[in-house]
Parts: sequence; C-alpha cells; structure tokens
Amino acid sequence: MNLLSDLPDLASLSAMDRAHLIHPVSPWRQHEQRGPTVLQSGSGAWLTDSQGHRLLDSFAGLWCVNVGYGQESVVQAAAEQMRQLPYATGYFHFSSEPAIRLAEKLVQITPASLTRVYLTLGGSEAVDAAVRFIVQYYNAIGKPAKKHFIALERGYHGSSSTGAGLTALPVFHRGFDLPLPTQHYIPSPNPYRHAAGADPQALIAASVASLRAKVAQLGADTVAAFFCEPIQGSGGVIVPPKGWLKAMRDAARELDILFVVDEVITGFGRTGPMFACEAEGVEPDLMTMAKGLTSGYVPMGATMVSEKIYAGIADGAPAGAAIGHGATYSAHPVGAAVALEVLRLYEEGGVLANGQRGAAHFATGLDALRSHPLVGDARHRGLLGALELVSNKTTKAGFDPALGLPDRIFNAGYQNGLIFRSFGDHILGFAPALIFSEDEYAQMFTRLKKTLDDVL
Ligand code: PLP
Repeated sequence: MNLLSDLPDLASLSAMDRAHLIHPVSPWRQHEQRGPTVLQSGSGAWLTDSQGHRLLDSFAGLWCVNVGYGQESVVQAAAEQMRQLPYATGYFHFSSEPAIRLAEKLVQITPASLTRVYLTLGGSEAVDAAVRFIVQYYNAIGKPAKKHFIALERGYHGSSSTGAGLTALPVFHRGFDLPLPTQHYIPSPNPYRHAAGADPQALIAASVASLRAKVAQLGADTVAAFFCEPIQGSGGVIVPPKGWLKAMRDAARELDILFVVDEVITGFGRTGPMFACEAEGVEPDLMTMAKGLTSGYVPMGATMVSEKIYAGIADGAPAGAAIGHGATYSAHPVGAAVALEVLRLYEEGGVLANGQRGAAHFATGLDALRSHPLVGDARHRGLLGALELVSNKTTKAGFDPALGLPDRIFNAGYQNGLIFRSFGDHILGFAPALIFSEDEYAQMFTRLKKTLDDVL
C-alpha cells in the first residue's frame, strides 16, 4: 500500500488509533473518546491534516522543526545515508563518518568548554546520560558523596526515569513515585510571578541566593550539579532577565558544583544565536541538546561534556574497562547525516539569519496582544514566546479548570487554521520555524487574535 496516496479513511484510522496507539503526555481515556487529529503532510511552515485542513504551525511541531517541513536536501541526506550504510554501531570501536563529522561540528559551534560528544536518540536520553556521566565522574574522582541534583521549579528535562525527577512539573511525577530523594528544586526566575518582582537585578540576586541556600541546606560536599534550561520551555516559556544564566553559572562555579545547561529547546537558533549560552558567554560543564539538531526529521540528541569530566571518567575506570553506558542506536549514522545537513541549512542555507530577522515580527506580534482583555503577560526571546492568560489582570488570577479553556482555545485555533501549544490552563506557547516569512508572521497574529476573541 502506498501510505501517502492510499490512506484508509479517517474513520477507520481514528478507530485504529483509539484502539491501539498510546499517546505521549495525553489523557488516555479522554483521547479514546475524542480521537486523533491525523497530520498528513507538511510544507514550509504549514501542515495539512487528513481532512484537508491547512494549519499554520506556530509551534514547529513540538519546538523542533526549526528548518520547516519538506526540506528536500534533508530528505536526500537521509536517503543517501540509508542507501550507503543505514546502521553502524558505535560499540567495539566501530564508528561511522557522519557521526564523527557531527561530533567535530558540534564541538566547533558550542562553547569552548565542551569538547566531547555523546550522541543519543533525543533529549530525555541526553539528560539521562548527563546524570549518569556526572555520577560516574564524581565516583571516579573520589567524591562519591556528591549525589544531589538541583533544578528549577517548573523545569522540564524529559521523562526518562531519572530525567523526569529533574523535571519539576507535577504531571510527570503523578503516579510514577518520582522524584528521587537526590533531586531538589529552587524557584524559577519568572519576572511575572516571582516574589522578588520583575526587577532584573533583584530577580537574579534572588535566584543566586536560592541556589546558595539550597546547596548550604544539602551540604556543599554532597551536591553534584545544577541543571537548568536557559529559558524554561514546557514550564510556560519563562524568560529570565538577561544576565541570569551567567550569574547562575558563576555561582555554580563558586559553589563547586557542575553547571548543566539543557538546550534541548533553546539550541539551534531558537532564541537568536546558535545556543542560548552564547548570548551570555556562558561555558557550561555539560550541555544537552536535541530537537533542532535534526529539526525533528529523525530522532537524535546529544550530551556534551567538558574535557575535565571526560578525563575524570576515562581515567577513573580500570585500564581497558568499558564505560557501561550506551544503546544500539547511539550515534546512529542516519541521524548524524540528517543533523549535518540541518546544521548546513542553519548556517550556509541562511535559516539562522532568517530566524534572527523574524524575531522582530514575532516580538511585535506578541507585544501587541498585551492589551487583549485575556492577556496578562507576553514574553519572548528570539522565536520562543508565550502569552499568559488571566481572568484578572490586577490579581493575575488564572481560570477555573472547569471552564476547559485550553481545549476551547486549541479548538478555536484549529478552526482558525493555527497550531500552538497550551500549558496548564492558561499559558499559550509559540515557537515558529526559523523559516517563517513576514507574511506568515502576519497571518499567525491575525489568526491568533481571532482565536483569543473567539473564546472571550
Ligand atoms: N529537555 C528539555 C528542555 C526539553 O524541552 C525536552 C523536551 O521537550 C527534553 C529535555 C526531552 O527531550 P525529548 O522529548 O526529545 O526526549
């Protein structure tokens, strides 16, 4: 059967979906009732579903399709690699050319502190590897008491068994017996809601003080690392003041704990520069990435570590003994070939520069909606943004969940031909592909305004 031209009708697809497919981060029983929205094709910034509905995707899939849909050169890169060598293990000293070239390229484009690359299947696995490497590092250098991890409230670091514990969103803990007793949180640097208020210096000072206090409470010799997203994505696009990342990095260094930056969303031009770290000259000890690495065309992520961590682990193991971390699909050559082409598009293809130019249209469009009766806060950096909806602009109160606002807004957006994301009951997230044209930004904000008006 040719899947593209000969799809079963929507009713039977929907029935099969409801009967058999478990959907990630979804209310399973509710989904069985509702059924899927089946996406069928994509081109540039646009998706078409199985009913022929055209949708402007202002969320780049799941903040990942940074180069847009239907990039033929990426398809070619995958096809050529599959034809030549579809699989190569990294075990037993084997390697493949795309994986080698990708590792070298990533070292070139990330902060100078990062010299070694472990290629994974996505962001959760990258976070999981980072945690495992940190534990192994401290054991290897004779500091086995350093086992505690500190992360941000409302942070998201994936849903692997360990990463979900660093994630501080209740839905990822409920019913899973998480987090681990070694995982701790400090308040997120949210200018709209933090007790210290929106003043940048006060907020940065409060965050640094929280980190210091948490380390003091746990005992400095027992804390391994601080994990953060430079801008918290799934927690509701929380944009800290400029200078926050640098201040936290400096504090971590002083406190003698590792500083891990999770750039799974913020990497690859999402916030302007190639990586958010770059904007503040921050050199982390470890960095995790995924999403924009392959622009979602195939699954791939990476964990990058400094030479100090690499050497600590490598030299701490008995001579010739394997470091026991890896998977069948680590450093997959097709993923690596796709990533290399996607990286070429960002740089030589002008995608990164187009995204930087688009940021002004994105900012203007979101800021203009501040005056809408439903909007309490509009925030953004680069092409990452959110609207926080409130029922009362003075008290900043949200909405009664019984009103079902997220579903109503999503449905109105769909009717208006616009895809975005809602977090909790009152935050709308936006992450357009870096290839959006000026006209597509105009269409996005016309459709978004109408969507908000429709649910008023
Ligand atoms: N870290 C961050 C900051 C993320 O936003 C995500 C996913 O959204 C992850 C990790 C997990 O990545 P993945 O969904 O590829 O496993």
